[in-house]
Amino acid sequence: MDLEITAEDSTFFCEDGDENGLLNGSSSDEAESTSEPRSGNDRPNMLSEFASEFYSGGSDYSSLMGNKKKNGLFVQKNLLQMWGIEKSGAADSSESRVSMENRKRKKSENEKEQWAVFGLNQKEFEKGKKPAIVQSRSCPFYKKIPGTPFTVDAFRYGAIEGCSAYFLSHFHYDHYGGLSKRWCHGPIYCTSITARLLNICLSVNKRYICALELDKEYEIEGVKVMLIEANHCPGAALIHLRLRDGRTYLHTGDFRASKSMQSHPILLSYHVNVLYLDTTYCNPKYRFPSKEEVIDFVVRTTRKYLQKQPKTLIVVGAYSIGKERVYLAISQSLQILPIYTDASRRRILESFGWSELSGRFSNSRHSSPLHVLPLSFLGLENLNKYLETLNQRFNAVLAFRPTGWTFSEATGSKLDMIKPTSRGNVTIFGVPYSEHSSFNELRDFVKFLRPEKIIPTVNASSSGSRDKMQALFNNWLKS
Ligand SMILES: [Zn+2]
Repeated sequence: MDLEITAEDSTFFCEDGDENGLLNGSSSDEAESTSEPRSGNDRPNMLSEFASEFYSGGSDYSSLMGNKKKNGLFVQKNLLQMWGIEKSGAADSSESRVSMENRKRKKSENEKEQWAVFGLNQKEFEKGKKPAIVQSRSCPFYKKIPGTPFTVDAFRYGAIEGCSAYFLSHFHYDHYGGLSKRWCHGPIYCTSITARLLNICLSVNKRYICALELDKEYEIEGVKVMLIEANHCPGAALIHLRLRDGRTYLHTGDFRASKSMQSHPILLSYHVNVLYLDTTYCNPKYRFPSKEEVIDFVVRTTRKYLQKQPKTLIVVGAYSIGKERVYLAISQSLQILPIYTDASRRRILESFGWSELSGRFSNSRHSSPLHVLPLSFLGLENLNKYLETLNQRFNAVLAFRPTGWTFSEATGSKLDMIKPTSRGNVTIFGVPYSEHSSFNELRDFVKFLRPEKIIPTVNASSSGSRDKMQALFNNWLKS
C-alpha cells in the first residue's frame, strides 16, 4: 500500500529521520545564481535533474514521490514497483506493516512532544490547553543557547527571535528539517561536509552556508566556537562554545562518545558548565559492542558465507548518510569490488572527499557482488524478489541491517549470539552498529567532563524520562 506523508513526517521511515524532507528541488547552479531567496509560496513545479535523481534513484528518499494532486505531500512508493519488478498493489505486506507501525509509534511520540514544541508546559498540554497559534511552532528551549544569539538544529521554526547564527550539528533530517532552498533567516554554521550536502541535496543558497573547519577555534558574535568530530555520520560535529563571561557549553548534536574524545585538547583545557547531551541510549539496558567489534563480526560472517557459497550477493542496508564503514570494511578486507549503489548515494559519497571511496563504486547491479540498499528495503520478501532480478548471477543473498535498534537485551555484547532470519536463499543479520553512544560510553563521557548541568536532547519530552536521566547524571557525578 502507499502511505501518504508530509515531508516533516518522513522521519517515520528511518531511525535518524534522514534526508527525506526535500520539499522542493532546484539545481545548485540555480541556487548559486539567485541573489535573493524566493518567497515561501514559490514552490517550483519541476524537480531539478539532481532532485529527480534523488526521488527516482532507488534509495530510501527516492521512494518518496511528489504527489501533484495534494500539494506538498509525498507518497511512499514500493521500490520494487518503481523498478518495474512488481505491479502496483502487490506491495510487500510485512514491509508496509512495519512502516505503518513505525508511523503510529512516531505519531504518538510526536504527540507527546507537542507541549514542548508549542511552548506550553506538560501539565497545560495534558489538561487540553491548546497553543494560541498552532501554525507557527516556537523553538524549544533546549535548542537555544543562553547568553548567545545561537540556536542548534532549529530550522523548523522560521526566523527565531534573537537568533543571528543557526548551527547545524549534522545532515540527518531530524536535525536539518526545515531547511530548503528558501532558507533566508540567517547564516548556517556547520562542517564542510555538511555544507556541501546542504548545497547539493537541498540547494540551500550558498550565501547562507558557513563552513567551519574541525578543531579550529573561530569567533562568532563574540563567542569562541570550535567544532569537534562527533563519531556519528560523516560531517557530524560536537559544538564547543566559550562565552565572553567565561562560561563554556558543549552541544553534542548526535554523537558516539569515544575514549579518544577524552584526549581532545579543548575538552581537557576548559571546564564545561553546561552539556547538551545526545541521550538516545541513556538507559542501562543499552549495552552494545564497539563499531570495530561489529565490523569484525560482519567481515567474519561474510567470509564464512562466501567460502560456503561463492555466488552469494552481499547486501548492506544504509541510510543515505551513515554506516559507510560497514560496507567499506567488507570491500577492503575481502577485496570485494565494485560496490553497487544508486547515483544519488554515489554523488553524496563523492562529496565527502574520502580517498578510500574513490573508484570503488559501480552503477551496474549485475556486475557488483556487494550492494548498498536502503535499510527500509531489507526484508526477506523484497530481497528474494531482488535476487530473482539478477538473472542467476547470484544464487543467495547475505544481508546486514546495521542499526542500534536491532540490539536485543539477551544478546548484550555477545555478537556470536545474533541469530539471522532467513527464507529461501536469503539470510538477514541485524547487527548493533550504533552511531550513538552506548549507556556506558555516555556515563564515561559525563564522568570525564563533569559538567555542572546536563540538558538531555533526546527522549526528553516527558518529565518522567527527564527525572530518570537526571537521577543517573547525579549518580555519575557523585562518584
Ligand atoms: Zn543523526
